[in-house]
Amino acid sequence: MYMTQKQKMINQIIYAANRLGFSDAYSIFKGYCGSQVVILMYHRVEPDKNGWLLPPISTTEFESQMRYLSKTHKILPLNKLAEYLREGRYLDKKVAVVTFDDGYKDNYNNAFPILKKYDVPATVFLVTGHIGSENLFWFDKIRYLIWNTKLKKIELDGFGDFSFDSKFDRLNSIFMILEKFKKIPNEKKNHLVEELVNIFDVDIPRGLGKDVILSWDEVKEMSENGIDFGAHTVTHPILTRTSSDQTRFEIMQSKKDIEKRLDKPVDTFCYPNGTSSDFNKNLIDLLRENGFTCAVTTIPALRPSKMNLYKLGRLPTAGSYESFKFFVSGCYSDASNILNHFRRSNVQN
Ligand SMILES: [Zn+2]
Repeated sequence: MYMTQKQKMINQIIYAANRLGFSDAYSIFKGYCGSQVVILMYHRVEPDKNGWLLPPISTTEFESQMRYLSKTHKILPLNKLAEYLREGRYLDKKVAVVTFDDGYKDNYNNAFPILKKYDVPATVFLVTGHIGSENLFWFDKIRYLIWNTKLKKIELDGFGDFSFDSKFDRLNSIFMILEKFKKIPNEKKNHLVEELVNIFDVDIPRGLGKDVILSWDEVKEMSENGIDFGAHTVTHPILTRTSSDQTRFEIMQSKKDIEKRLDKPVDTFCYPNGTSSDFNKNLIDLLRENGFTCAVTTIPALRPSKMNLYKLGRLPTAGSYESFKFFVSGCYSDASNILNHFRRSNVQN
């Protein structure tokens, strides 16, 4: 799988940290000398890692992580954590929040039984235009096309050359093409995705979305059994690349869709893609004015606090048990914060 230099470096640090017992030691240190509030980000949970969809965390690994957390942390629903932070209420030393993005069916099939077993509350962010629909998310359409095309390579106008020779090439090409598509304004992107269907000459089976994405019945059952649902737009565009009307629609409609189905208020939001360039002050104001009490990003270094309720950082979880323990121990976000502090003071100087 494609990895950036930074990811490779982090993996080496994690390996070394665990060999030296650093993650366990740091976790104990944090237990005495501070608090540890972590929001974990999951997408897919499957027994088997192969296939065209976003690589999942394995069901066994997910169970190990939930077992660990249920022993070491107080686990709160996201909106409870936001409430506690906003009101400055006492938090246990170690608090964790479990979140899932997009609304994949494996959340119901594989994660939900484990969440029930360990009594873990979780928040699932739904892309509501796809729940119970036959259609794949736009990024999964691209994954399916590249995974199944008979082409060996392609030159895409304005995007570059891509090779599909081996499984490794296909995974790299998926990563590269998705990164490029994320940067395209929404309408143009949707149009280009449909063009790709012709270019790759692959039939996407009708109804494939139903096998991959949650149904409203599954959402309802989960909601009645300790799982919260938050808004994650209607079609998963990057909200800094949509018109202001579209942005408002994507946010408000996804909230309304869930509230109507579950008859419960929705007060949490998740920015599609969630990096620092995928949200801004206008978006935060819109969320605050429309009944959302917090929003999550995909930035691991941001520590959840009262000051950043609308840009809460989350930790990645797809790696090994070792990397999970490393991230959960708090040392990654602490180290990033210290580095950022020094960077900022160097800039100011
Ligand atoms: Zn998403």
